[in-house]
Amino acid sequence: MSCIFCKIANKEIKSSIVHETGRVIAFDDIAPQAPVHVVIIPKKHILDVSGLNEVLEDIFSAVDQVAGIKGLRDSGFRVVMNKGMSAGQAVDHLHFHLLGGRSLNWPPG
Ligand code: 5GP
Ligand code: ZN
Repeated sequence: MSCIFCKIANKEIKSSIVHETGRVIAFDDIAPQAPVHVVIIPKKHILDVSGLNEVLEDIFSAVDQVAGIKGLRDSGFRVVMNKGMSAGQAVDHLHFHLLGGRSLNWPPG
């Protein structure tokens, strides 16, 4: 399996892990777009949002955990999922970006 996020999930590739359970792992993005930029993924290789159902609860409880760990529950944060070329999806393993620590423009570019 050559998927980079599968390698991060099984620790073949080192990452700065923020939060981990049996089914999800959250790590600091290698190219952060905000003071806090965490990537949250299911450990299982799920291609994209069409497979979200089975991990929805795990993902969003991780979002809440990470927001707490990073101290963003009061100041706020944004969760983003890029799907496909026009949104700039670069890694074909379902993932969510949690961004915070600065004010975030709306609408996003
Ligand atoms: P996408 O554009 O697919 O929504 O987001 C992929 C994200 O994964 C990007 O923000 C990118 O910086 C991050 N990323 C890609 N490769 C690695 C890596 O090896 N380690 C970490 N920590 N982040 C990565
Ligand atoms: Zn994968």
